[in-house]
Order: sequence, then C-alpha cells, then structure tokens
Amino acid sequence: MPQGLIVKALSGYYYVEVSGELIQCRARGIFKKRGESPLVGDYVEYTLTENGEGMVDAISPRSSELIRPPISNVEQAILVFSVQEPELNLQLLDKFLVHIEHAGLDVVICFTKEDLLDESSMEKDAEVSLSFNGEQELTKIEDAEALYKQIGYTVIRTSSVTGLGTEELMAQLTGKISVFAGQSGVGKSSMLNALLPGLALETNQISMRLGRGKHTTRHVELIPLPAGGFVADTPGFSQLDFLELGVEALGDCFREFRDYAAGCKFRGCTHLHEPGCKVLAAKEAGEVSASRYAHYELFYNEMKEKKRRY
Ligand code: GDP
Ligand code: ZN
Repeated sequence: MPQGLIVKALSGYYYVEVSGELIQCRARGIFKKRGESPLVGDYVEYTLTENGEGMVDAISPRSSELIRPPISNVEQAILVFSVQEPELNLQLLDKFLVHIEHAGLDVVICFTKEDLLDESSMEKDAEVSLSFNGEQELTKIEDAEALYKQIGYTVIRTSSVTGLGTEELMAQLTGKISVFAGQSGVGKSSMLNALLPGLALETNQISMRLGRGKHTTRHVELIPLPAGGFVADTPGFSQLDFLELGVEALGDCFREFRDYAAGCKFRGCTHLHEPGCKVLAAKEAGEVSASRYAHYELFYNEMKEKKRRY
C-alpha cells in the first residue's frame, strides 16, 4: 500500500505528500468510530480512489504528539528569542527547554534581531538587558550564548533583516520535521519568510512595546524544505503544550543536572536542600549556572504550588 505524510488538513480533507506531490484524501470512517483522527505529521497508508482522490487507511504509530499546534511526529523545536524587542527572557527560555526535554525533541536556540544590537551600540559585545529570575540584569548576549552552548544546545544568532544565520539555521532544519516556538513578536514569521521566500507569512508590524500581538488562528501546514524535511508554518503559537509534567521529572529536564544528579546521596533528591546533593555542590562551585539553578527552584515551587491547589 502506498505511504505518505499528511502535510495539511482542511475541511475534512487530508493532503498526503508523496515525493513532492499532494494527494487529496478522505479518512476511512473507521477512524471516527474509534474516536481517532489523522493529524498533520502522520505517516499514513492510503489507497487511490476512482475520482483521483485517496483514502487514508492506516496511521503509523506517532513518535510525538503536540496539542497546540496539533502536529504529530515533530522531531525538533526551534526556540526563537529576540535579543531586543522583546528583550531576552532566560526564565521563559528555560521553561521552554524543560518542556522540550520532557518531550524528547531536538532543539535549536535561535537568538533573533541581532541587527538591533549593532544599532544600539557600535561594539559587537553590546550589553543587553536580561530578565533573570524576575530581576533585570545587564548581561552580554555572548554570555547567554556561551551558557547554553556549554550545556550542549545548538545556539544560532540570526537576523531576518540582514540574513545573518539563516543558512546555518536551514542546515539544522534540513531532513527533520520542525516547529518554531517563542513569544509573540520575537520574529518567528519573519524568520520563516527569510528562510522560505515565497511563503509570505503575515508578520506583526504592531509595536511590541504596546504588548499587543497578532492572534490569527490558521490551519497548520507542513512546508517542505528545499533539501528535505518540513517546517510547520505556525508562528502564531507561543506555548508548547505537552502532557502534564510531574515535579519528580523536573530535574532531569535540566540537561546539565543529570550527571551530577546521578551522584546525589539520596534517591529522589530534589536538589533543593538535601545533604550530599551533587547538583547543589555544582551550583556552589559555579559549574551549574546561577540563573539555571534559580529557574529550577522557581519551577519546582510553582509545580508544587499547583499540585497543592488541585
Ligand atoms: P512573531 O510574532 O514571532 O511571528 O514575530 P514577527 O515575525 O511577526 O515579527 C515581529 C516584529 O519584529 C515585526 O515588526 C518584524 O518586522 C520585526 N522583526 C522580526 N525579525 C526581525 C529582525 O531580525 N530584526 C529586526 N530589526 N526586526 C525584526
Ligand atoms: Zn541532588
């Protein structure tokens, strides 16, 4: 039976991509009876019908399933954070990273609007205002870049205006199914447009200082990339929703804690106060960064608080 990838779902039709061509398909009634429905990102088996359309017969098991946007089999998230307008928020970045680690996706951190830094200062290592643990702090963007690279993440500095970093980003996208994520106004649509001329996504020209964003709901579509792979054209969402994350799993979502955590004296160590905690020791020694640890503590307490309330 022929196989393909659903790249678009619209008005009861599923568009299955097979070597560059789209086949418009209906889904068999059996899915509805089982309470299932095909998703964009599903690898499916289909049969061709007499009218030139197709019928989706079977869905391959999904490796992942995002709720918003509703896409299956996403392999990679591109976390987009602008260096200015809005300013870099490491707390939010760490929150996104926790969710992505939990979901087991690959991740690329993309610092956008690099051209604004050049404008605000002639020096390349301009200081940016940074939110850290709810407080404002002046830090060099280089320090943030170095921190996340040291943890093992891929960090790319980009500008949709100058084209900086777009080639490097395209190389990371190639061959995978990726979604862009990040706050409204950080430049996700602009970056997708820069990567894929002809896509012409609507961008947000409203001043971000007013704190307004565009709230257009659109259908999800996977766009094929020139050298293979797909990217979701859903720059509208700013949160990745995954199934509920348990507080016990939080420490593991901080990638650089893992090796230390294995050496903690107590099993189930929360890394907050226990004697013989190797994560705490690493923080004291400066091997785990103060901002990362502070965000761990913050998220831990938030999750505990949430649990108490329900
Ligand atoms: P989204 O909400 O994340 O999709 O953000 P948009 O792509 O709509 O961009 C929000 C605003 O930032 C728009 O006014 C863009 O023109 C602007 N913008 C996006 N990328 C850049 C960039 O690299 N440099 C500069 N200077 N402005 C940008
Ligand atoms: Zn510990």
